[in-house]
Parts: sequence; structure tokens; C-alpha cells
Amino acid sequence: MSAQLFHFLFPEVCIVCGKLLMPGEQGCCSGCKEDFEAFPDSRAASHALMHSIQLHFSKGYGLFSQVACRYRYYRHRPLQKVLHAMKYEGMYTLGLAFGRELGTWIRDVIPPESIDCLVPVPLHRLKLVERSFNQAEKIAEGIAEIYMKPVRGDLLERCRYTLTQTGLPVAARRKNLDDAFRTSAESIPERILLVDDVVTTGATVVAAAETLKRAGAISITAAAIALTAKE
Ligand SMILES: [Zn+2]
Repeated sequence: MSAQLFHFLFPEVCIVCGKLLMPGEQGCCSGCKEDFEAFPDSRAASHALMHSIQLHFSKGYGLFSQVACRYRYYRHRPLQKVLHAMKYEGMYTLGLAFGRELGTWIRDVIPPESIDCLVPVPLHRLKLVERSFNQAEKIAEGIAEIYMKPVRGDLLERCRYTLTQTGLPVAARRKNLDDAFRTSAESIPERILLVDDVVTTGATVVAAAETLKRAGAISITAAAIALTAKE
């Protein structure tokens, strides 16, 4: 049974283990959430994410003022199951909950007063039709509740229907994203927090940040729920 149908039939149980949820728990119980691999602190997380982007993209140096994330992402672990349910099975409330948690966690490395707006990494409109919502936009909305800053989903557009990045080597990921984005606004705020769900090599956030900078953004910070771990 799909997680979406399961959740629809049994909204009060954990997607991962099927136990009843306690008040305040969303989608996943606190026991399973303890199995998510959280970074020990937000600075260690930022350091790991920046290191990973710079490892894959030498021009990552200087492109981002700061980056932040919350978890390490491994295949076949509870976090993957929950993020999969959020992304492919329509559970957008999980995106909001992850966003609120991420917003609280990253405040000390990306202070709200250091940004003007949040920009979710967009989906191509055909993918948006397929999935019905953009998971990065829901995460951005959750962060925005903490940051009290606007979410500008109108600033960046995905103009090519890119093949999935999963399984592609770094060079192919980069090529897959050449000219993938364009800006659709006449003026771009100076300080942007770019939001995505999972960063693997950083190809997507690098391509999106380059597009925003070419359009006039001065400072780009990036935040994601998780950084894919080497396995
Ligand atoms: Zn559970």
C-alpha cells in the first residue's frame, strides 16, 4: 500500500513503523525520528554541506555566503521513507513540518535578518502537474513561518524538463542542469535563501544560485533538509 493511502486511511499512525502518533507528532513518531541521522550541531552541518558542494564544484567557492542542513541522508533508512512520502506521495504537511524544524535549527548560521526572501528550487511545470505540489516550496513555507520573510516562488523557473538526477555521475548531473533555470522577475531581491529538500552533489543548488546571481542577487545562502551521505 502506498504511504499516501496508508496515511489517508490511518492518519494517526507513523509512516515508518505504524505505531500510533502522539499529539504534536506529524507523519512519523518521535521514536523513528530519533533514527534520523541529525548533525550534532548546525555549524557542523553547514561545514559538511559546504565541503560537499566545493568538492564537486570548485566554483562553489564564493557562490554561497552560507549553507545549512539538518540531517544526513542514507538510502533505506527512516528519513528516506518519510522524505519519499513527502515528495512522491503528496504528503505536503510533512514539508511544512520539516521546514519549521529546519528554520529553527539554521537560525544561528543564517540569521533571518541576513536575508530578504526565500526561493524554493522550482520543479518544471510538467513535474508540478505530476506531483501536485513542489516539496521545496512547502519546506520554504515552513521556514518562512519561523523567519517571517516572504517565499518568492515566482523568481525562478525551471525551463527544461531535466531527467532525474538519481544515479547520474557528477559531470552528467552538471550537464543535465545547464540552462535548466531562468529568472522570471524584473528585479531580484539582493539577499536570497535558496531552499531544496535533499542535496546530493549540489548540482541543482549551484545551477539555481548561478542563475539568481546572474540576474542581480548579491548574496545567496542555501538550506536543505538533508545532505546525501557517502555510502
Ligand atoms: Zn515510528
